[in-house]
Formats: sequence, structure tokens, C-alpha cells
Amino acid sequence: MSKKYDPATALQRVEQFGEFGGVNPSITDSATYTFLSEKTMIDAFHGEAQGCFLYSRHWNPSNKYLSDSLAAIEGTESAWVTASGMAAITTAILQLCNAGDHIVTSVTTYGGTFAFLKNYVAKFNIEVSFVNISDLESVKAAIKPNTKVIYTESMTNPMLQISNLPALADIAHENGLKLLVDNTFTPMIISPFKLGADIVVYSMTKFINGKNDCVAGAICASEEFIAAISDVNTGTAMLLGPVLDPLRSSSILKNLGTLHVRMAQHSKNAQYLAEKFKDIGLKYVYPGCVSHPDYELFKDMMNEGFGFGGMIAIDVETAENAAPFMELMQERGVGYHAVSLGYFKTLFSNSGKSTSSEVPEDIQKEMGLSPGLIRFSVGLDFDIEKTYEIIKSCMDDLKLLK
Ligand SMILES: *Cc1c(COP(=O)(O)O)cnc(C)c1O
Repeated sequence: MSKKYDPATALQRVEQFGEFGGVNPSITDSATYTFLSEKTMIDAFHGEAQGCFLYSRHWNPSNKYLSDSLAAIEGTESAWVTASGMAAITTAILQLCNAGDHIVTSVTTYGGTFAFLKNYVAKFNIEVSFVNISDLESVKAAIKPNTKVIYTESMTNPMLQISNLPALADIAHENGLKLLVDNTFTPMIISPFKLGADIVVYSMTKFINGKNDCVAGAICASEEFIAAISDVNTGTAMLLGPVLDPLRSSSILKNLGTLHVRMAQHSKNAQYLAEKFKDIGLKYVYPGCVSHPDYELFKDMMNEGFGFGGMIAIDVETAENAAPFMELMQERGVGYHAVSLGYFKTLFSNSGKSTSSEVPEDIQKEMGLSPGLIRFSVGLDFDIEKTYEIIKSCMDDLKLLK
């Protein structure tokens, strides 16, 4: 069976109409729902009333439309949308783990995820082992009798390391564990569920929404798992209540239709910059270049037509070099000196001082994170050649190139 999936066509085939035939589904901004019969309401509380909505913390029609479209993109049976990416991650983890359980995670994860696993889950007596996720032997060695989950990101931040999802899925399933994957950096490019992951989580704040106008997240999984998190009596999502607002769901849904075009353009621009950085001998990390240690693995796993992603990192050695360079790039219009990613403008920040600052300095060193590492989320620039010329002029003026 081919591992390749076509998420763009799967999404294009989804038909969702508004109440009056609108091409966009109607927005349901209601917290609660009427029932014509008492029996149906009782059945709904027992999760037995098909197609009925009870209360919007549980399910909302607008959230259902967005969830169905995300499930089509992932090839999963179901999905549930959350108020942030962290809500998706923490809900999935707290659903899978009980007190006394153990998690094996990549040491390089999003800073918030790292902080949650390092500092927060201990209060539930959940243990965590941090491993180099590319070292499959160390993943295996970390598994214990109480392990429940292997956690990783398809593409990790900020070193852009690629997880071997089919191999990790095999390790997880041989040991009766779930593989939980954060695919925020590579929507459509990688389809973790198709590669063996059990649950896929997203920060939709980034590429999926692409507008930087909200925070939002998603959990894509089997019908069984989504039913479990939304169970009225025991579901983590239902009981902790991290649901996405339906007005926001509706605005995100309308941005899904351009996701494949945006991903391809982000990738095309990042690939162009990477080739240029190579030519001038700058230290850079881009998984779409043969010099990247995971290039072949990525090529093997990726879906066709969306490129290698919009994230690229360069190393200017020190934080003291990075600061004036980023300020000058912003001044000259390359993009914004800001955290986050997936925006139509280029965003850049010094990872060690910003998005990875939750990671202690010794671990930053171990990860190979240089203090001068600048992470770029490359925008949808129409004229990326011109953008490169400006970046180069900033480097020249600051004498960053030897
Ligand atoms: C931003 C991000 C998150 C957290 O998402 P929020 O929407 O900010 O809560 C999680 N994982 C990755 C990889 C991210 O980039």
C-alpha cells in the first residue's frame, strides 16, 4: 500500500452546505439546543442520540464542520477542535495517561509542550522520559511496563529534525502504546495517521489557519478516541472544557480551502532561500536540502506536491549577532520579528531566546541549538528573490558573512 496520501483532494471533495444552501455552512452560535422529546434528551446524555447536539462544550455544529474537514485532511475517522494547540496536546495526553503512567517523548518539542511534560504532569504522578527521537534504540530502551504514549512532532522545532513515524508506530504498537504526533509544522505535507500514528494534534494557530488572528487547535483520531474525550462522564475535553468558539471555527474553516496552495508556496519560497544560503556558505537547516540528515526520510514520508515546508533556520553564531540582524530585517521589510509561524508574512525570532527559552541551556546545547539560531517561517512572498536580496544586504551591512 502506498504511504502517500492526497489531503488536498480529500478536502476538496467534502461537501458542507449552509442551512439555506449557502456555500459556507451556517454558523451556530448557540450554547444550548432544544429537544422535541424528553426521551431524545436522555439518549443524548448517554451518547446515543445520533445527529443531536446537546450543549456547545460537548459539540457544536460549526465545530463539527471544521472537525469533519480536518478529518478528511488527515484521513482519520473523526476530529475535535480546541481553543488552542496546547489544549489539544494536553487533552490528548491527559486522556491517554492516568496517574502512575509513563510517557516517552522527543526532547525537542514545542516549548509549551516541553514545559507541560517537564513541570506539570508530575502533579499527577505521570513520569516522562526525554529521548533523542531519531535514535530509535533509545526510544525502545526508554519504554517501561507503565509506558502509555510515545510523543513526538513530525518536524521538530527549531532544529527541523524529522521523526521516523512508521518506525515509531511499529515500536509503539509492538509494545501496546499509542503514538501521539504533533503535525503543526507540516500539515498536508506529512499525514501522520497514514504513516501509523494513532492520534494527530495541531496548533491551528499556525499554518492551518494561516492568518495569525487567533489561537486554536485540533485532535484528529478514531471515532472511538473522539467519543472518549467528549464523553459526558469521563471525557477530558468535555470535563476540562477547552472547546473552540464556533464563530472562530467558522472563520478557520474558510481558510482550509487555500491550505494546499499556501503550503506549496511557503515551501517553494523556503527552498529558494535555502539554496541561496547554501551558495553564500551560511550555516542553515532546511530539510529540503540533501545536506539535511533527514532529507531521505522526509522524502520517503511526504505527500506529493506540497514541498518540504516553510520553516528554515540559520545560524549566525551568537545572540549578539542575531539581535541587530533581526531588527534590520524588520526595518527593511523582510517580515516581522515575532514568534509563531505559518503567516503570509515572513516571521523570524531567535529560538534560544524566545520559543525554546523554556528549554534549559544545557539541554539546548545537547539539542545542538546554537545561541545564534534564527528560525524563519517563510511567508508567501510573490518575489522571494527580492526578499533574499534584502536579507543579503542586511548580512553585508552587519558584516555577518565571513
Ligand atoms: C504553537 C505550537 C503549539 C502550541 O499551540 P498554541 O495554539 O499556541 O496553543 C504546539 N506545538 C507546536 C509545534 C507549535 O508550533
